[in-house]
Formats: sequence, C-alpha cells, structure tokens
Amino acid sequence: PAPRIPKPAWLRVRAPTSPAFAETRRLMRAKGLTTVCEEAACPNIGECWSQKHATVMILGDTCTRACAFCNVKTGMPQPVDLLEPEHLAEAAAEMGLEHIVVTSVDRDDLADGGAGQFVRVIQQLRKRAPNTTIEILTPDFRNKAAAAVEAIVAARPDVYNHNLETVPRLYPTIRPGARYYASLRLLETVKRLDPTIFTKSGVMVGLGEERMEIHQVMDDMRSADIDFLTMGQYLQPTPRHAKVVEFVTPDAFKAYGSIARAKGFLLVAATPLTRSSYHAGADFAKMRDA
Ligand code: SF4
Ligand code: SF4
Repeated sequence: PAPRIPKPAWLRVRAPTSPAFAETRRLMRAKGLTTVCEEAACPNIGECWSQKHATVMILGDTCTRACAFCNVKTGMPQPVDLLEPEHLAEAAAEMGLEHIVVTSVDRDDLADGGAGQFVRVIQQLRKRAPNTTIEILTPDFRNKAAAAVEAIVAARPDVYNHNLETVPRLYPTIRPGARYYASLRLLETVKRLDPTIFTKSGVMVGLGEERMEIHQVMDDMRSADIDFLTMGQYLQPTPRHAKVVEFVTPDAFKAYGSIARAKGFLLVAATPLTRSSYHAGADFAKMRDA
C-alpha cells in the first residue's frame, strides 16, 4: 500500500488539559450524553471544550451506516432514550451554553428516521434553556426525508445544518448510501418551508477532489439557498478509513474562503481545522448581531 503522508505542522494541536475541559467531560458523563467531539476524535476538542462549546450526539452512539470517513461505530443501534431530550436540555442549561449543536447517528431503523427525537430535543431546549440558540445537524433521513424535515422545521431550530461532505463524484466511495442531490434538496426544502431558519452545509477536502469540483459544490449550495458553509481538512480517523489524498494548505483554504464569500454565503469557515460545528456559536452570534 502507498505510505501515509505525514501530517503537516498546521494540523498539530495541543492535548486538552484545562479545568473547563474536565468540567465539560464530567457534565457530559453525568448526564449520559454522547459527544461528536469524542466519537469523531475531533482535533478541536481541547479548544472547544475549554470554551464550553460542544456538539451532542443524540439517538445513541451506533450508526446504521458506515461512511468511509467517519469514526462512529456501525451496528444495531440502541432503543431510543425518551429521557434524552430532558437530560440534554438540563446539561445545556447547567453549562449556560449560548449555542448548542445537536446531531445524531443515522437511524435508518426507526420509522421516522429519528426526526421525532430532534423535535423533542428542540422543545426541551426551548423550555429549559431559552437563551441557547439551537443548531441541528441532521442525517439525510433517506426516503423519510419529506416528513422528517417538515416536523423538524416546524419545531424551529435557529440553524439547520446538513453536510454534503464531499463532491458528488466521490459519493460512491466516501458516502455510500447517500445521494448528493437528495442532500441538497433537503436543505432547499428547509429554506422553502421556513426562510427564517438559517441553512448550513459543509465539505471535507483532501479526499482527492478537484478545485473545480469544490467550486461546483459551492454553486449547487447557493442554488439551494444555503446560507453558511464550512470547509475543513479530512483526517483519517483509523487505518481502516479512507486515506488522506492531499493536505490542503492554509493558503488554498483562504482562496476557497474568498471564492465562497464572493458566491454569496453569509458565513464561511474554511481552515484546515474547521469542523462542521467549530466556532459555530460565536460566528452565528456575530452574524445575527451585525
Ligand atoms: Fe466538538 Fe465541533 Fe468543537 Fe469538534 S469542532 S470539538 S465536534 S464542537
Ligand atoms: Fe458517520 Fe453519519 Fe455516516 Fe453514520 S451516517 S457513518 S454517523 S457520517
């Protein structure tokens, strides 16, 4: 096999140590919550948790799919925890979160794809943590998308995020089981149903995509009225996952960022360490208050 390319200096991050980091971990454990920060082995965990920013994963830690870039385990998921919405909202209130990102594994096994749990989480958050803005990052809900999106939009999250992850050409290897245009349509539907909800999507780079393909994805996103864009470097979580084809330089990220802003996205985050939820709260507040 081809040797792994060594990680460049701009991707090295310090190990998490601060007291706030420990406190966040304690609270998440106490409430029995799962975070993407840990499950996806996110490189920003030290920084985000120190600032009490986290992405919570609902509906268990086991996914019914197995994407080639993702470190979440695959298998038969647990039954839905009906107390989870309450526990999550309590944690958000206790931490005094300004912004919370709520996501889930894909639950193709559930009749509603898990949409009902998203709705209950939003309702509980509004009740117990009324000052927290809510961003949800959902799966594509496959053939249940129409009903799922309608229910979630009616619960009125502040930001609806769904990642395209990569360019359409790489879907069969990187995101098998998902359809590029179905994901685009999902976000377009959110905007059509409620234009006051901000829509957001993201891609990983370094998987072998061409520049022009990324520009095309940006155009597709703007045609679907997507407001916010995130772009970050793909990192291989374990040797079993898709290989990194290229480490995109910080300058190339800057160039992508300028092009994206020129295409009309309201918010653009494009750096090697950008993740779908990185600085989501701070950026959102800045934009809303501008
Ligand atoms: Fe968690 Fe997102 Fe921060 Fe990563 S970028 S540590 S997933 S909040
Ligand atoms: Fe990971 Fe989502 Fe793919 Fe499941 S559907 S393997 S959680 S990226």
